[in-house]
Amino acid sequence: MGGTFNPIHLGHLMLAECAREELLLEEVWFIPTGCSYMKTERQNGTGAMPSPRQRLEMTELALKSNKRFCCLDIEINREGSTYSYETLEELGRLYPGHRFYFILGADCLYTIDSWREPARIFAACDIVAAVRGDSPLEEMEAEAARLREKYGARITLLPFRNLEISSTEIRERVRNGKGIRYMTPENVIAYIEEKGFYCE
Ligand code: ATP
Ligand code: MG
Repeated sequence: MGGTFNPIHLGHLMLAECAREELLLEEVWFIPTGCSYMKTERQNGTGAMPSPRQRLEMTELALKSNKRFCCLDIEINREGSTYSYETLEELGRLYPGHRFYFILGADCLYTIDSWREPARIFAACDIVAAVRGDSPLEEMEAEAARLREKYGARITLLPFRNLEISSTEIRERVRNGKGIRYMTPENVIAYIEEKGFYCE
């Protein structure tokens, strides 16, 4: 499961657990992005924003209590922009006996075609896309069918609850002096407070 994880929150954790349970996955590996080419400079470690390494640290804190979850630093250690296809191909080389499933939120199913080298992404992994209330199943089925047809993609749609929580909301709440308790684990909140992230 890739993401900016700025910061990680219960939506990410519940989606990972749901995918693990439904697809009988051995483990879920969280891979925080490096300097994502899709996010703005503000998100890449300036001002009160965490650096890639600090986003990884927050993610590690959140995963501590689940031995089937772990966090990889392969994207944050790569120079320059990081692309999902490179990461997935690297995982394939490093772990040739493994089968990889790329866990995504519904929003990503609609944009993945415009990511760098989509054909190589689909060749390197199976896609697991969360179906949520705000993205109707029929629309997602149609998009999945289109991607299967165009790329031979292997895509599983995963029914998932509508959990209205995003990293954007957490950052905004902190900026506005509001609490974020129960939106992300306590140890992540403590780390955010200690470092003064998102306050500006
Ligand atoms: P931001 O608000 O900064 O865009 P985000 O909350 O969307 O952050 P990301 O790190 O961008 O988090 O997302 C990583 C992955 O988790 C993506 O595939 C995204 O679709 C998925 N995701 C994020 N929030 C949720 C949620 N509440 N429910 C299900 N999936 C989610
Ligand atoms: Mg997002």
